[in-house]
Amino acid sequence: MNLDMEGFRRNLAEVRRKIAAACAVADRSPSEVVLLPVTKNHPADAVRFAWESGLRFVGENRVQEALGKMEEADPALAWELIGPLQSNKARKVAERFSRVQTVDRAKIARLLDRYAGESGRCLPVLLQINAGRDPAKSGAELEDASALLATALECENLRVDGLMTIAPLSNEPEVARRCFVALRECRDRLSQEFDLPLRELSMGMSGDMVDAIREGSTMVRVGTALFGQRA
Ligand SMILES: *Cc1c(COP(=O)(O)O)cnc(C)c1O
Repeated sequence: MNLDMEGFRRNLAEVRRKIAAACAVADRSPSEVVLLPVTKNHPADAVRFAWESGLRFVGENRVQEALGKMEEADPALAWELIGPLQSNKARKVAERFSRVQTVDRAKIARLLDRYAGESGRCLPVLLQINAGRDPAKSGAELEDASALLATALECENLRVDGLMTIAPLSNEPEVARRCFVALRECRDRLSQEFDLPLRELSMGMSGDMVDAIREGSTMVRVGTALFGQRA
């Protein structure tokens, strides 16, 4: 990582400016959109920069990498899992992460529920939906979202905050935009069907956060624009 604290602060100011501008266009308050710094593939220094700049959670997509960084970080920092989760890591994740954004199948929901219960906590989760119908992306299919939510709601030790998606990579901004609209509409349907707020819509990254905010994102997950290219 070719970045010092000063460089990070500059990037952070620029990302916040972009978020504020996108909110202004969408007639939303910037307080409705949380910035999740994504520190994956960056050294522990990236986590420290975020913490010392007042950010209180980070996103990581590999469990092992995150557990290592947790050792060095302030215990008050919250960690969100944004990468695929394998069954054999579910116990550690339920114990150590503050939220899991990538619950995409019933089996993972039940495992996290069991381990969260065993460690005496209620684990907040998001359901990851493949709203862009991208064969390269994980996430439940839109058609399966309702069944997955029903399962997650049966899990006493999980709290479902909302939905998450990753837009397909494309040079055509319309592709990401359609994906974000699909996620929001999916949330609206589920919210009505289950009479739940499902407030959180985690969507938008460095390249597509402006469109995501326009379509209702409540959390943008930003790596490259804050920390530079990953190793
Ligand atoms: C890496 C990653 C991000 C951040 O991507 P950037 O383009 O670097 O901002 C966001 N969400 C997920 C799920 C990721 O894996």
